[in-house]
Amino acid sequence: MEKYLDKPGGIILKQAAIPAPGKSAYTAQYLAGIEEKCRTEYTPPDTIAVYFFFADSRYAEDTNNSKVLGVAYRNTSMALFEHTICGMSGGIGQPDRTKLESVVMQHELGHILGLVNAGTPIQQNHQDAPHGWHCDNSKCLMHYTVETGSVVQNLLGGYTPVLDQNCINDLKTSG
Ligand SMILES: [Zn+2]
Ligand SMILES: [Zn+2]
Repeated sequence: MEKYLDKPGGIILKQAAIPAPGKSAYTAQYLAGIEEKCRTEYTPPDTIAVYFFFADSRYAEDTNNSKVLGVAYRNTSMALFEHTICGMSGGIGQPDRTKLESVVMQHELGHILGLVNAGTPIQQNHQDAPHGWHCDNSKCLMHYTVETGSVVQNLLGGYTPVLDQNCINDLKTSG
């Protein structure tokens, strides 16, 4: 955030815990229901408030072949599926947990900032349209594999995805 956002007034993080909802999987609708009950900060003029929910379970739309690690389900709301993230990190032969979690969080924040072509206009075509609002560069933080767990291979290889020049250019144009 400090690297890419123009926030001279600073960035404030507030953390809070809620009782475990006891769900074996979360739908986007259920996530939105929790948010309505427990979110405290919204976006007043001249400020953006972003809500990160660290879910204790998996996403309801997971399949055998594709596990969702995070989702930006509203314009300033994201969820990270900690059960899935923890299952893919921190063990023998797995990437560092903080690294995987950070990369997924940064990717979802990218969506909230309008990447790719999701509110922030693209300057040069680099949208991987078959995969939605994602970047076509497999090394980019906004590649679709970052939120599906395929990113784990990259992390094990020692490569941590960052925004590529096309995504940086899009953000710059939006200020
Ligand atoms: Zn994504
Ligand atoms: Zn990109």
